[in-house]
Amino acid sequence: MKHVIVIGGGVAGMQCASELLKEGVKVTLLEKEQNTGGKLRNWYKLFPTYTPAEEVLSALRHKLTGAKNLTIKTGSEATAITPKKVTLSSGEELDCDAAVIATGFTLFDARIKEEYGYGIYDNVITSADLEQMFTRGEVRLKNGGKPKRIAILHCVGSRDEKVCQRHCSKVCCVTGVKQAIELKHLFPEATVFNFYMDIRMFGPGYEEMYREAQTQYNVHFVRGRISEVSPTFDDKLQIKAEDTLTGRPLKMGVDMLVLLVGMKANDLNSDLVEKSFLKQQPSGFMQPRNSFLGNVESNVGGIFYAGAVTAPKNVGESLNEGTAAARAAIEWLARK
Ligand SMILES: Cc1cc2nc3c(=O)[nH]c(=O)nc-3n(C[C@H](O)[C@H](O)[C@H](O)COP(=O)(O)OP(=O)(O)OC[C@H]3O[C@@H](n4cnc5c(N)ncnc54)[C@H](O)[C@@H]3O)c2cc1C
Ligand code: SF4
Repeated sequence: MKHVIVIGGGVAGMQCASELLKEGVKVTLLEKEQNTGGKLRNWYKLFPTYTPAEEVLSALRHKLTGAKNLTIKTGSEATAITPKKVTLSSGEELDCDAAVIATGFTLFDARIKEEYGYGIYDNVITSADLEQMFTRGEVRLKNGGKPKRIAILHCVGSRDEKVCQRHCSKVCCVTGVKQAIELKHLFPEATVFNFYMDIRMFGPGYEEMYREAQTQYNVHFVRGRISEVSPTFDDKLQIKAEDTLTGRPLKMGVDMLVLLVGMKANDLNSDLVEKSFLKQQPSGFMQPRNSFLGNVESNVGGIFYAGAVTAPKNVGESLNEGTAAARAAIEWLARK
């Protein structure tokens, strides 16, 4: 029986493992954390349908539960990968016939953009923090109060030469719109402003959400970038921005600032390039063999990619790539 190692237990890796198992392949799924699920373990409801992230994860975990030819090794970080062998940080070596890399992305660390005061001022939070606050049912200011004026800032750590992240993270515009609507559900009286450079609503139903945010929820969209944030003596945040449509500088007091943090290439990718002869794109994401006819294949025969390891992607796209990578690996094994 052929044996494939899938590295990364996020949605892409779990979907890939389940498709391989269906075709009678033996699978080892490696996950460096103590639980599978990847970033979705921290998300609340998913755009564009508001499906609970936990519902998607439960369905994927259910497909893997009790599978005969599956070994899930959590707390196991892969450090070097070849089509024949995967090495773990513990030094353990696992033999295989092919490998699928589904190691996903790293969230941009908002502390790097010091001008926004994340980690310094109260009530400056990231979109990832807000997802967890929604899940816990605790969207509150530091003093326990309800926010009345909220600013959401787009493109934090994306499309930004200064922090070496030139790419667009693709999912944060729609996340910002989704979170603005969710905040208006919780606090109908609050005023919510989205500060954006461009609004990129690439997926089905996304443009509709953007319109709905304006027409049904009265979310305000301001074309401009916040340049500076400072605390005021009455526990508010003063933001300075420029409205680039009118050309006017703006100063505004808000209770809460949400930073839409970008999807950065996985920090481990450079290691993979060094140790496994794989290729990286200038953005740091892994380079597929061919963008059209080989986008789940790597430049090394027998090593495949699935999900956000090659570019920012949404959940649907990551799941599809899990299926595609399983199919590509099976075809490759059959040709050997
Ligand atoms: C704030 C935010 C909100 C989002 N909300 C939505 C949404 O509502 N709807 C939507 O469609 N998309 C959303 N997305 C996108 C979604 O998170 C991604 O599409 C999805 O997480 C990609 O899945 P993945 O399996 O490729 O990667 P990940 O979720 O990153 O999973 C990768 C897994 O690999 C593991 N791993 C990494 N390196 C190793 C290693 N060396 N060895 C072993 N394991 C390793 C990680 O621990 C992780 O469990 C959002 C993204 C952000 C940033
Ligand atoms: S999706 Fe929107 S917020 Fe995210 S980087 Fe692209 S333009 Fe900026």
